Amino acid sequence: STLFQSVELAPRDPILGLNEQFNADTRAHKVNLGVGVYYDDNGKIPLLSAVHQAEVARVEAAAARGYLPIEGIAGYNKGAQELVLGKNSPLVAAGRVLTMQALGGTGALKIGADFIKQLVPGAKVAISNPSWENHRALFERAGFEVINYPYYDPATHGLDFQGMLNALRALPAKSVVVLHACCHNPTGVDLTNEQWREVAKVIKDTNLIPFLDIAYQGFGDGLEQDASAVRLFAELDMTMFISSSFSKSFSLYGERVGALTIVTGSQDESNRVLSQVKRVIRTNYSNPPTHGGTIVSTVLNTPKLFALWDQELAGMRERIRLMRRQLVEKLAQNGVKEDFSFVMKQRGMFSYSGLTAAQVDRLRDEHAIYAVSSGRICVAALNSHNIDVVAKAMANVMK
Ligand code: PMP
Repeated sequence: STLFQSVELAPRDPILGLNEQFNADTRAHKVNLGVGVYYDDNGKIPLLSAVHQAEVARVEAAAARGYLPIEGIAGYNKGAQELVLGKNSPLVAAGRVLTMQALGGTGALKIGADFIKQLVPGAKVAISNPSWENHRALFERAGFEVINYPYYDPATHGLDFQGMLNALRALPAKSVVVLHACCHNPTGVDLTNEQWREVAKVIKDTNLIPFLDIAYQGFGDGLEQDASAVRLFAELDMTMFISSSFSKSFSLYGERVGALTIVTGSQDESNRVLSQVKRVIRTNYSNPPTHGGTIVSTVLNTPKLFALWDQELAGMRERIRLMRRQLVEKLAQNGVKEDFSFVMKQRGMFSYSGLTAAQVDRLRDEHAIYAVSSGRICVAALNSHNIDVVAKAMANVMK
């Protein structure tokens, strides 16, 4: 018998499985709305101009590729920190904030999880119901018990706010609460600032550990606006974890660009926490890669490139909004009686469309349109060439 004889086949990732099925589909008019990626109006992943310019400059500089510090590029970390906490954060001035370059938002969550495991080994981790697929798996893998708090209410296509608050209030102190700071994945349903204020207060009063995951900053209402939940927690003077992902906002999925920010209670705590988190990084992958980090750092720290990036990000955001509006209009034009205006209230790349699993099956089998069985569609995969076909097919399966 070999070492691997008893290894069981792991279940395959449902979304990657969907992509494989899509790729194997030979129907020419097929559309994949199951993805988690922003596509432009031609159905392509864009290379942003700001990114391209930073990349050209980097190649021309013919820079050597030595090791980065364990915590990554200083300018990158400062840029990432300012995006979430703002340029004039008193917490930063007080030395209470540390930011470390990470391997995407996933890497930031994982470093944070490993550090919390060391700090509060028995903590429960609460994630929204539903949440990004990997939240549960990642925290379980880090050794935590993961539970759900109510979030999405299918009856209203909105938020189960009371359910959420009640569940948070009932958590034991020092439980970790994972929150989507904007553009909730998979539902597109976000909290209002008023609701954020109440949630933050409950988290503070119950002595919970907020872990704000921000993977779509700039896709909701704008870079500054989308950070308002983080800023609110900061104003309440709370210690917290923030995982940032630049995968979507820079369209740099494969470069693994993200950051972990930790707000501590004092400069002295910061020094000690940094030393421990560096140990977590060192024993995982030693230090982050240079290329993507340099590109993001250049864009964040060059005012002309930052302005260009902000503008390109606005272009992506507005195109998604347009697709939301057109989908709602075209569903009505195709005779759908139900009110789909909730799609326009949702934020970010995704929409919980309200389609049932059976309707999703019919979309795929009869119309070559692929969506997640939960009914999640990626609005950023809609474009002027496929939206008529999609709206017509959705109307058809809803009859
Ligand atoms: N958090 C959420 C909510 C996400 O949707 C994603 C990516 N889809 C991530 C984190 C991870 O981002 P990255 O690809 O940068 O690891």
